[in-house]
Amino acid sequence: MTIIKRKFDVVIVGAGGAGMRAALQLSEVGLKVAVLSKVFPTRSHTVSAQGGIAASLGNVTEDNWHWHMYDTVKGSDYLGDQDAIEFMCRQANEVVYELEHFGMPFDRLENGKIYQRPFGGQSQNFGGAQATRSCAAADRTGHALLHTLYQRNVSANTQFFVEWMGLDLIRDAQGDVLGVTAMEMETGEVMLLQAKATLFATGGGGRIFQANTNALINTGDGLGMAARAGIPLEDMEFWQFHPTGIHGVGVLISEAVRGEGGYLINKDGERFMERYAPNAKDLASRDVVARAMTLEIKEGRGCGDDNDHLLLKLDHLGADIIKSRLPGIRELAIKFAHADPIHDPIPVVPTAHYMMGGIPTNHYGQVVAPYKTGPEEVVTGFYAVGECACVSVHGANRLGTNSLLDLVVFGRAAANQIIEDLKINPHHKPLPADAAEKSLSRLARLENQKDGENVAQVTDALCKTMQTYCGVFRFEDTLLQGVEKIKAVAERVGRTEIKDKSRVFNTARIEALELDNMKEVAVATMFSAEARRESRGAHARDDFPERDDDNWLKHTLFFSDGHRLDYKPVRLKPLTVDSFPPKKRTY
Ligand SMILES: Cc1cc2nc3c(=O)[nH]c(=O)nc-3n(C[C@H](O)[C@H](O)[C@H](O)COP(=O)(O)OP(=O)(O)OC[C@H]3O[C@@H](n4cnc5c(N)ncnc54)[C@H](O)[C@@H]3O)c2cc1C
Repeated sequence: MTIIKRKFDVVIVGAGGAGMRAALQLSEVGLKVAVLSKVFPTRSHTVSAQGGIAASLGNVTEDNWHWHMYDTVKGSDYLGDQDAIEFMCRQANEVVYELEHFGMPFDRLENGKIYQRPFGGQSQNFGGAQATRSCAAADRTGHALLHTLYQRNVSANTQFFVEWMGLDLIRDAQGDVLGVTAMEMETGEVMLLQAKATLFATGGGGRIFQANTNALINTGDGLGMAARAGIPLEDMEFWQFHPTGIHGVGVLISEAVRGEGGYLINKDGERFMERYAPNAKDLASRDVVARAMTLEIKEGRGCGDDNDHLLLKLDHLGADIIKSRLPGIRELAIKFAHADPIHDPIPVVPTAHYMMGGIPTNHYGQVVAPYKTGPEEVVTGFYAVGECACVSVHGANRLGTNSLLDLVVFGRAAANQIIEDLKINPHHKPLPADAAEKSLSRLARLENQKDGENVAQVTDALCKTMQTYCGVFRFEDTLLQGVEKIKAVAERVGRTEIKDKSRVFNTARIEALELDNMKEVAVATMFSAEARRESRGAHARDDFPERDDDNWLKHTLFFSDGHRLDYKPVRLKPLTVDSFPPKKRTY
């Protein structure tokens, strides 16, 4: 097979908010930037972010970055790295104003300032009254953000490779990163993109769970590529289950609904969150609400014939608020739950939503991993930002609207770091002769496999295993069984066959390649979860119900090769302020 080779200063895999914010910064200084995306850029999952982007603008209630930092550290259940959290919260106002100046159409308050709404886990004065911190464009904030960034990139001459799928990371004998291989999805043509800097912004991997709020493309490709290239994955046991996915379909109903005053009820009509979180109630942190809901259902107070969901009530907000502030939510509820929230409550269940773990980085977006000599070093030429990265600002549990913030803060920071690094390393390093070998042999295996299993069947087994053995609550026996089951599924992944080899849209081939990546994400998740014997943030174990700072205040690193686990300390020291020492987390 002949392979086309192209050279760029920077190759970015992923055109969501993170990839596009980074690309913009780089293209604007005249660097030659290629951005690859499996879908048209504005269809990346960022487009479906509903609720908002956090920043302590203080437009509605008094606020400052230090309070935001405290809430984020607490929300992370003290697993977040405090240097990165300080960095993010301090830059929040600046990056939001920057978006405003790029033309992002935020909603406005009466006085013309950016509209802000309250979200879970936001407080004033280090744990006091509810803060109002999420800047919003109705319930379509991600849509507004992504379109704004795309338009800016078009005028900055960023070069997009639309419907090109990144396949594998290219590293040389020293382990430095030199670019990626990629495949045009329609034709199957393979290309080698050589770069002085390679940035991953491939988003999350929520599709490994059967019920999830993620887009079809969120298969954790960046993590798969990194894992296959020897980079460990950090904190993969921590997955956020969003309290309000529409029952039976998983489609997300934003926390903005509760921010605007909606609340959850059980089959007796009781507002049960008052029992679990007397102060914050329905706006307690997501892990707390999701667990409360799971307990209500388990104890028989769920709604419907099967007592298997709860109801989100918002009719009391009135038709005007619902139509102006939550129009997209209303549309989703009517379409997917056949319930018009102006009159009827929406049936909801906790649903896999966000991956706190990912490719380990520092707060400059540089990937850090055991590599040439040390246990943790910057990998030359490799950067990661957005949901695929673990900085770690979200620790064991992300607060709502902190992800969009993470994308733009670290997208910009990584780009600035690349600009500096390219001044020191201005040349392309030579490619090894076998640069495309790994990808070509994966493709050849798929082409030649005989009597293999159907890709869809194995994908289904993977998702069911994750859902059943690694869900909202985790038990010793299910985790132990889960490890064995996911190992068996992983073996099946290596024997899949493409039954329909027609090249029309190439979907079967793409799904098989995606499954290779989902496998890495799923295996890392199950092993890391089984090993962590405590409950922290989104990782809730029945057999170890308490957080255990003496033994577990540390990040997990999972290496695909040999299924090896290692740990590294949490960076408890912020950049300029005193650290927030771990204390009991109540809402
Ligand atoms: C329904 C929903 C609502 C949300 N609401 C909010 C909210 O209100 N506020 C908030 O802060 N967060 C929210 N989140 C979380 C937040 O939206 C995401 O974490 C964030 O948008 C991820 O952005 P990203 O740039 O990292 O990746 P994405 O936006 O997911 O983009 C990933 C990109 O990578 C590309 N890609 C992936 N693999 C490959 C490959 N192999 N080759 C080439 N390209 C590839 C894709 O094509 C895409 O362009 C929400 C999430 C969901 C699912």
